[in-house]
Amino acid sequence: MPSIPKNWTPDDSAELYGIRRWGNGYFDVDPDGALTVRVPFDGGDVRVALPAILDGLRRRGLRLPLLLRIENLLDAQIARLNKAFHQAIRERGYGGSYQGVFPIKVNQQRQVIEEITRFGTPWRHGLEAGSKAELAIAMASLPADGRLIVCNGYKDRTFIELGLEARRLGHNCVFVLETPGELDLILDCSDRLGVTPVLGIRAKLSTRVDGHWNLTSGERSIFGLSISQIVGVVDRLKQAGRLETLRLLHCHLGSQIPVLDQIGQAAQEACRFYRELRQEGAPMGMIDFGGGLAVDYLGDRSQNSQSRDYSLRQYADRLVATVQRQLADDDPPLIITESGRPTVAYYSLLLFDIFDVTRFEAEPDQLRPAADDPDELRRMHDLLAALDGEDPATAYRQIVELRDRLHQAFTRGELSLRRRARVQNLLLAAGHRLVARFGGMDRRPKELDRLRDELADICYGNLSVFQSLPDHWAIGQLFPVAPIHRLDERPDREAIIADITCDSDGRISHFIGDGATRSTLPVHALKTGEDYVLGVFLVGAYQETLGDLHNLFGDTDVASVRIDPDGGFQVTREDRGDRVEDILQLMQYRVEDLRDRLRRQAEQAVGEGRISLTDRQAILARFDRCLQETTYFCS
Ligand SMILES: *Cc1c(COP(=O)(O)O)cnc(C)c1O
Repeated sequence: MPSIPKNWTPDDSAELYGIRRWGNGYFDVDPDGALTVRVPFDGGDVRVALPAILDGLRRRGLRLPLLLRIENLLDAQIARLNKAFHQAIRERGYGGSYQGVFPIKVNQQRQVIEEITRFGTPWRHGLEAGSKAELAIAMASLPADGRLIVCNGYKDRTFIELGLEARRLGHNCVFVLETPGELDLILDCSDRLGVTPVLGIRAKLSTRVDGHWNLTSGERSIFGLSISQIVGVVDRLKQAGRLETLRLLHCHLGSQIPVLDQIGQAAQEACRFYRELRQEGAPMGMIDFGGGLAVDYLGDRSQNSQSRDYSLRQYADRLVATVQRQLADDDPPLIITESGRPTVAYYSLLLFDIFDVTRFEAEPDQLRPAADDPDELRRMHDLLAALDGEDPATAYRQIVELRDRLHQAFTRGELSLRRRARVQNLLLAAGHRLVARFGGMDRRPKELDRLRDELADICYGNLSVFQSLPDHWAIGQLFPVAPIHRLDERPDREAIIADITCDSDGRISHFIGDGATRSTLPVHALKTGEDYVLGVFLVGAYQETLGDLHNLFGDTDVASVRIDPDGGFQVTREDRGDRVEDILQLMQYRVEDLRDRLRRQAEQAVGEGRISLTDRQAILARFDRCLQETTYFCS
């Protein structure tokens, strides 16, 4: 619809892409139209433009697609989490304290664990381990300074022995029983090593919660002990004279719980378990509420499974208040949480470029009828004019019918390739005309939204959804997507993003909108000679190790930066992504063998006079160059 476009400002972009809604205060737009990262310092927030960071990284030889980690955001989230609990404890005058642990499975990368270990020191922020490998990381990374190592997951003898050795080293290591069978194994190992364990019980709560991962809650949850199993464990401990080892009650209802009331109800039920165990004579002293603190990916603070209806402060306050109400008259326990997702989500973002675009536009010079056109094609031309008339929706439907008939004619051999191309062109022209006519109207035909999606551009992005955003592919997780520059220009195209794999699932076609999700992303038209770079935000939790090698696209380049109080930044780490050779080796190919086989083919071709010796050298050199290159698109 022809309306006079008002001037577009960076604020309009911030609004359109929801940057201030999902950014948690960490992302914003500057007056030049660059997306900025905003880092809190004592002297005030510091903003750095993402294009400036990207430019600095490219000059160090890093390439897109690129996983960018901003260390300050990890630090800031750990600080916010701990401060929220300390504040709630202070305000309510709660007699106990709080200690957090980071569940390693949420992001196991060495650098993340090192940063949490380092930055968590003043808060005594510990680690949660769910496997032998994660326990090995935890005990070697943390100093034995009273921070917790909480061991969840199924534990075999080696796992248990290693955890007991951690205690001997002075680590505050707790075994949370996942199954009743673990108990005898732990008691046996403990006797043989002469180390007293500290035990926790993971209870199956009956409170059910909403969200993607709600199967972790309720009686049918695969994790934790049922009521009768808990009674059995208490009896067994009494019988063995080891009830004094039972110190912790644990629950974890699943990740990303959107509704605070449900968290509160579950916490209350957990407190009841805690109290009963005290009454049974166990010393207790720690209550662990697991993970579940959600990230507001949509930025709408709703009860949608990708959002949350509460703030961090409200979450901390609800848990502290519940424990205070239920348990403070006795010996107020240490409150523990295992927040992983909100701790790391903000800190990583994926940057990628668009290397091509397909548009679904009509060619104006292909809209003229020819004298010998078949009837259906001529009717299509006539109907195009009818789209401006009384009943455009009916005219459009007739056009689609004619299109179908003409396609059949093509299949029967009665329509030429060029005429069929004109049929398609007419349909596109009709679609755009219909969309333009109803565009901004509230009362528009239902099919129109679908039609608009069908006319959207396809931007080809230099990324693999399977490698870098596995949850988007697997469970429809939405991540915020936005261009990192040109935000002072009105984005006048709508697009979906296709990734670089040859899989039709390799796409991003659900985006975060204002209120509802949207099926296209507003983008700018590409400019020749200039990269167009998009960011996918909040990808720090769960994505890295769930990724796979679909079509053999491997790890992207990775860079970590630390932003300084003066607005500069240092690159603290840079890792080159996988080369083609690395991926082939992962798939059990021996690069030497491949090269040798190719050499023999080339030798044979030389022998038969099909190629020259110079050709042979060129072929082998190209093969080698390919093996050394990144798996992604190089422009
Ligand atoms: C995965 C997991 C967590 C992390 O939960 P988030 O909601 O992602 O923070 C915490 N505790 C346990 C036992 C887990 O399995």
